Amino acid sequence: MSTTSGTGGVSYRNGTQRSSLRTQSSASTSSGGQKASVKSKSVLRKSSPAALGGGSSKSGGGGDAGVPGRVRVAVRLRPRNGEELIADADFADCVELQPELKRLKLRKNNWDTDTFEFDEVLTEYASQKRVYEVVAKPVVEGVLDGYNGTIMAYGQTGTGKTYTLGQLGEEDVADRGIMVRAMEDILAEVSLETDSISVSYLQLYMETVQDLLDPSNDNIAIVEDPKNGDVSLPGATLVEIRDQQSFLELLQLGEAHRFAANTKLNTESSRSHAILMVNVRRSMKTRDGLSSESNGNSHMTKSLKPPVVRKGKLVVVDLAGSERINKSGSEGHTLEEAKSINLSLSALGKCINALAENSSHVPFRDSKLTRLLRDSFGGTARTSLVITIGPSPRHRGETTSTIMFGQRAMKVENMVKIKEEFDYKSLSRRLEVQLDNLIEENERQQKAFVDEIERITVEAHNQISEAEKRYANALEDEKLRYQNDYMESIKKLEENWSKNQKKLAAERLALGEKNGLDITSNGNRSIAPALEEVSELKKLLQKEAQSKMAAEEEVNRLKHQLNEFKKVEASGNSEIMRLHKMLENETQQKEKLEGEIATLHSQLLQLSLTADETRRNLEQHGSEKTSGARDSLMSQLRLPQIQDPGNAEKPPVARLFEQVGLQKILSLLEAEDADVRIHAVKVVANLAAEEANQQQIVEAGGLTSLLMLLKNTEDETIHRVAAGAIANLAMNETNQELIMDQGGIGLLSSTAANAEDPQTLRMVAGAIANLCGNDKLQTKLRSEGGIAALLGMVRCGHPDVLAQVARGIANFAKCESRASTQAGTKRGKSLLIEDGALSWIVQNAKTETAAIRRHIELALCHLAQHEGNAKEMVKEGAMWELVRISRDCSREDIRSLAHRTLTSSPTFLTELRRLRVDIR
Ligand code: ADP
Ligand code: MG
Repeated sequence: MSTTSGTGGVSYRNGTQRSSLRTQSSASTSSGGQKASVKSKSVLRKSSPAALGGGSSKSGGGGDAGVPGRVRVAVRLRPRNGEELIADADFADCVELQPELKRLKLRKNNWDTDTFEFDEVLTEYASQKRVYEVVAKPVVEGVLDGYNGTIMAYGQTGTGKTYTLGQLGEEDVADRGIMVRAMEDILAEVSLETDSISVSYLQLYMETVQDLLDPSNDNIAIVEDPKNGDVSLPGATLVEIRDQQSFLELLQLGEAHRFAANTKLNTESSRSHAILMVNVRRSMKTRDGLSSESNGNSHMTKSLKPPVVRKGKLVVVDLAGSERINKSGSEGHTLEEAKSINLSLSALGKCINALAENSSHVPFRDSKLTRLLRDSFGGTARTSLVITIGPSPRHRGETTSTIMFGQRAMKVENMVKIKEEFDYKSLSRRLEVQLDNLIEENERQQKAFVDEIERITVEAHNQISEAEKRYANALEDEKLRYQNDYMESIKKLEENWSKNQKKLAAERLALGEKNGLDITSNGNRSIAPALEEVSELKKLLQKEAQSKMAAEEEVNRLKHQLNEFKKVEASGNSEIMRLHKMLENETQQKEKLEGEIATLHSQLLQLSLTADETRRNLEQHGSEKTSGARDSLMSQLRLPQIQDPGNAEKPPVARLFEQVGLQKILSLLEAEDADVRIHAVKVVANLAAEEANQQQIVEAGGLTSLLMLLKNTEDETIHRVAAGAIANLAMNETNQELIMDQGGIGLLSSTAANAEDPQTLRMVAGAIANLCGNDKLQTKLRSEGGIAALLGMVRCGHPDVLAQVARGIANFAKCESRASTQAGTKRGKSLLIEDGALSWIVQNAKTETAAIRRHIELALCHLAQHEGNAKEMVKEGAMWELVRISRDCSREDIRSLAHRTLTSSPTFLTELRRLRVDIR
């Protein structure tokens, strides 16, 4: 590929040079100003006289800085050829060269000449080497430094353009032209390991770009990068060059193809432009100025800088013969062909004029050639133009126009830009390598670190165990030493003791012998203090013994005391226990007494009522006229009942009394005094326990009062007793309806919800259970929360309560099953199941408590009789309980009931079959 992008380039325009280089006509031929301008120009061209292209690469100085540029123009005169030598033998050449003055004199006629100044004037004797060095070398050096460069040859056909540019020099090395020498220089300069050279070779004919390396590729598009203006020919063959020989072969191949193409198109090479493009891509190791400032950090910073790649493009253009501009059409070309042939060349001329005049518009787009040269000519590149002329006066016109072309080109300024970019890929590669190295290094260091830790640990362990050993040894030594010391001192003491014993014995003996003798003798004096000492010791010993005995006594005394305390404590505990028991007994006694008191109270009430009534009767019998004003309020109230025609015959006195007394008792249910209320409710409950009393109680409004008590009091005892009474009353069907009508379910439910005492709950549950047995009340009971209340009470867990709950459920289920079989209508599933009773039933089906179990078994059997429940029962596991009941139940009737229900339900049968259960 050709150059594609360039960044980092800096350009500037050297405006001063333009005016100083103006040399055009004979009018200014010998002016000193011209000379001065020539000199100033040569000063600016820093490198050698050979530097035509705006200074050598080195003159670029600070790398990024642009290079002053102007199209450098050299003129080259071809030696007379054989024909000219003969034909023009008598004529003087039309030009006279003054190479040392870099001037060319064009003879207008025998008496007048025009003088032109060029950057280089190359005579017919100029060697190819010299031409290369002054025309091409600076440009090539620029390309190696990353600038684009162009070398063009312009001139009439046969004046040596191809000779100058394309001569291969295979026979004579001295003949090698610019292309060959340029490649030699490039190859010598680059490093093939890091740099690359690629070449395209093209022909531009009739505004068509043809690939000279691949003739089939004959319409190559020119592409301009809108961002940086780089021109490229992506369609052109690009050949990598690694040595001179392959380049020569490539040139030959191109030449052969050019010849073939021209034959095919019936044209000649002079009508086409040949274009060689050499792309040089170089990796710069270090940037100028960076390499010198190396300190500790520079390694890193440098390595983070992407490597710089310089891309230079050298374009060598062997233009079509310049005579075409003027002579086209006059040589029998079709107009179209002439236009096409000339288009590029005349466009080049126009562009050069526009550039020379610093015009705002340069018509680069007018032709393929100018589009192709856009980034290589008058733009950002270094450009050298060699104009070739022949000596023959016969071609004076052509020669003159060629010279004028060269003169105009000399005024074209270039903005020379370095084509440089950062090679992030290779930086990334390099960094990756660095990273890998660092990772490896890190791994090594980690390993070393771990090893070191291990080593230190082992060492520490060793040191510790050594220290321990040393310590143990030292301890052992010390122990031994002490033992020895101890033994020795014991031995010494023993020796001393035996010595003393002996001494003592001897002294005693001596004492005995000398009895009655002089007691002031030395012997006596030495024994006396010893005896004293002994007696003192004895005394001391005695004292010690005494105090020991005293201490022992004290200890014994304390022990004794302790025992006493313990005994007292134990007796205290038993006392407490005894008192507890007493308290319990007392409480029981109290309760009993309370019950008795209640009974007595009621008896008293009854007695007093009886007495009242007797008195009244006596009075009535005695005096018919006595007004009823003295009658008790109660008797008045009950009068209509007493006079009830049904009882008119002669009600028993006791019964009559009872009725009157009952009313009074019931009125006491609403007494202010809580005690009275409690006693009253107990009396009522006692009465309600007797079936015979129930009707009267209800008729006297007792049921209502009892229900009111549930509502209006918060006393749990009252609740318990009242609920018990209600439960008793609820045995009767009529009463059941009354209870329901008076909102009994609601009252019982709230009582149940608030009660803690299992006995209260038992009573409430009993009452509801009774209500559950009424066929007519099923729906109402359920809708008012009766079943929910029942199920709520299982929280208490007391077997008595559970038994009542189970009884209620069984009652309810029984009614339901009865209703379903009687009505024969298919109803939905049981209300019990809907209220969630089934899971409780299943959970408790195996309970140990017989009362609960019996009810549950019955409930299951009843539920199972309704097919609408079957599915749910299967799901909840109730069917298994039925199976179990049908096998294990101790009661024959329930067993067979369970069996019957199982075998008569299609759902159960299907399920049992599915599970391969045989129930026989
Ligand atoms: P152009 O390419 O401009 O048409 P050529 O390069 O083909 O001209 O040159 C025409 C002839 O003149 C060729 O035979 C070439 O060898 C010869 N010739 C041109 N310039 C020189 C020179 N400086 N010295 C010797 N022979 C030359
Ligand atoms: Mg030629």
